[in-house]
Amino acid sequence: MVQLAEERERLLPTTDEETHPVSNGLTNEAHSHDSKVAKVKQCIAKNGITAFAATLVAVGIVVFGVVVLTNKKAPETADLCMTPTCVHAAASILDSLSTNDEVKPCDNFEEFVCGSWKSQHDLRADQREMNEMSLIDERSTAILRHVLEGEYMVSDQSIVSLSASSSTASLDKANFNKLRDGYSACMDEDLIAKRGLEPVLELVNELKGIYPLAESSKAKGKPKKPEGTTQGLTDAIAYLQELGLAGFIDFGISADDKDPDTPVLSLQGPRRIGLRSKEEYKDDKVVEKYTSTISAMFKIIARKQGLDISTEALSEGIVALEKELSKISMDEEDANDPLHYYNPRTLAEVKALSPVIDVEAIIKRFSPNYIPSRLIVTSPEYIEKVNVIIQETPRDVVQAYFIWKLVYALSNKVDQGSVTPIVELKDMLQGTKAQPERWRTCVRTMDQDLGWILGRFFIEKAFSEEAKAFGDRIIYDIKDQFSETLGKLDWFDSEAAKLAIKKVHNIVQKIGYPDQSPNITSPVSLHEYYAGVTILADAFFENTLSVIKTFNRKAWEKLSKPIDRAEWDMTPPTVNAYYNPPGNEIVFPAGIMQFPIFSLDVPEYISYGAFAAVAGHELSHAFDSTGRHYDINGNLTDWWPQTTVDEFEKRAQCFVEQYSEFTIETPSGEKIHVNGKLTLGENIADAGGLNAAFSAWKKRDAQNHNPELPGMKGRLTKEQLFFVSYGRTWCSKIRKEAAVDRVRTDPHSPAWVRVLGTTANAPAFLEAFNCPVKKPRCELW
Ligand SMILES: [Zn+2]
Repeated sequence: MVQLAEERERLLPTTDEETHPVSNGLTNEAHSHDSKVAKVKQCIAKNGITAFAATLVAVGIVVFGVVVLTNKKAPETADLCMTPTCVHAAASILDSLSTNDEVKPCDNFEEFVCGSWKSQHDLRADQREMNEMSLIDERSTAILRHVLEGEYMVSDQSIVSLSASSSTASLDKANFNKLRDGYSACMDEDLIAKRGLEPVLELVNELKGIYPLAESSKAKGKPKKPEGTTQGLTDAIAYLQELGLAGFIDFGISADDKDPDTPVLSLQGPRRIGLRSKEEYKDDKVVEKYTSTISAMFKIIARKQGLDISTEALSEGIVALEKELSKISMDEEDANDPLHYYNPRTLAEVKALSPVIDVEAIIKRFSPNYIPSRLIVTSPEYIEKVNVIIQETPRDVVQAYFIWKLVYALSNKVDQGSVTPIVELKDMLQGTKAQPERWRTCVRTMDQDLGWILGRFFIEKAFSEEAKAFGDRIIYDIKDQFSETLGKLDWFDSEAAKLAIKKVHNIVQKIGYPDQSPNITSPVSLHEYYAGVTILADAFFENTLSVIKTFNRKAWEKLSKPIDRAEWDMTPPTVNAYYNPPGNEIVFPAGIMQFPIFSLDVPEYISYGAFAAVAGHELSHAFDSTGRHYDINGNLTDWWPQTTVDEFEKRAQCFVEQYSEFTIETPSGEKIHVNGKLTLGENIADAGGLNAAFSAWKKRDAQNHNPELPGMKGRLTKEQLFFVSYGRTWCSKIRKEAAVDRVRTDPHSPAWVRVLGTTANAPAFLEAFNCPVKKPRCELW
């Protein structure tokens, strides 16, 4: 699949289904202070909290009722905020805290903040994990469902100016209809069931025509058997590529790290071979289940196509091949490190590396006029070795591998009853026990397929200009704070610090939604953006293919134009955020700027503890183990003197060791360690983000005294509430199977570790709760 090089630093991991077009056209398989610290209230009457919180909720309802009925503002004194939103915020915080007096904030802050949250929330059978952010996502999903299942309406708050012309109004409606047709097609489970596996089998047949076992020769006599594995190989890989799938190799199109206004093509191995991690290929139980799944699916295919094949031998052949591919694939931490993956090669060099797969022919097919001066080969070793492996593999196994890629990746786009073995495999790997309700799948599908149109309707219901302005202000505060910190560090070279401060102020901040590429407030822009996509109300599978093929084509077309810096990688409803090193930009979709992480109507320590820490996290990525390599213009270059690099490395190593000490438990009771190297960038970003957010808030509080929340007097100070707001962002539940998968593949630490590690390193936290310093205490920014 065409995908970005691994350079988007997200706040959260993304769910990566193999075929997962992001609507911008690229496919992708997600912190010292000076406070007057009150003594820690270690004897908070926590047992009383739940009942008290319930009372507050009740009070909130009453207060809210009064406000609605009388349309008057609730009382607010300088020191105590009693608005409905404040009452709501206070109740939800108190409702989340542990009720166990034995749990002390200095000993286990995550349990202190999330104790009751965890006892009050359970995973649905179809969920592998949930957290406070997924509760926000849940509310957004409900809003989107109402949009998709309702009638087209022009809101009074519309972000689209429709009065200008009637053609604009009719385009807006046409865009909505496209969305609704797509949703209807996805929801038509009867039709999807009736078609069964057929849509995928049609593709399987096409693929077999491209990469046959025996040539269907028009000449008389016996069909000729193609020799070896190379005949038709490149065409088969290109065929999969057009469907957003990576067979043996993959391509990425993104800004050149050393020339960020120019696009560059990268050549890489598949992001996921089949199973999700190298470790899974070494796990006998997983391999056994995976092999039997492949075998069962081939049995189903053979029965439908009247074939007589040995499915056991084929499935074992595929798994043996995938094991070999897994061995030569990059380690996760190297795949995230530009110093490892940035390997420019000329086309001639690539040809020498890849004698069997004709890379040039694939480029010519998708981008006929593009002549690359160089490609970025993320792992030359992989490309070289995969060419050897292909030649050593029997042709029927290579064909079966291609077919399996297709079937496995598109299995979520057909009737689930026709792919039961795959559904069972996924349940085993993630610990889930059921499929999500269909409407959930379909809302998500619309976000993936037509996300900018969906975003236009989401914004209208869940975002405002005031929210955008407040978000902007918070980010400017974080930038100022970060710059101040950089100027004060005794280990950071003073000349480099000047450049670093310039880099901070150069960071582009994108908030809420895009107004270019496409402009979601313009029906014309949206209409043009999706012009190539055909959506019919009775063709779910074909709709998906149309989206994938259109955006695959658009992605390749980008090679002949300068990088469009206006594009976004996340749709407006997305509950996530990212930093993009070559673009030197931080991006916050409206989806994450929601209560309780972000609100205009609560004291600022709540939004600074949560949202500003997120903003600080993204900004810190500009100076983490990856981002630090990019200069003020987004160029990958060495711009720090060696002494500063050495000091940075020393401090970074502290984080590596600290986080490697955390362990999680596998379903069989084994302990595995967090990968301190893989999670380094994210852990640095968490630490820097929280420190910057706290200092930024303290300045605001000094200028404009924030009121208290009801019920907090004698329980939690404002400083403590700042950290509670932070910690609550990461209250979470996860199945053991999914946790193992995350530790192996996700550059983020587990959510509970993000709370414990980050607060243990934050001087302001230790002061706010009067905690002793535990060694090691790691600090960079
Ligand atoms: Zn991040």
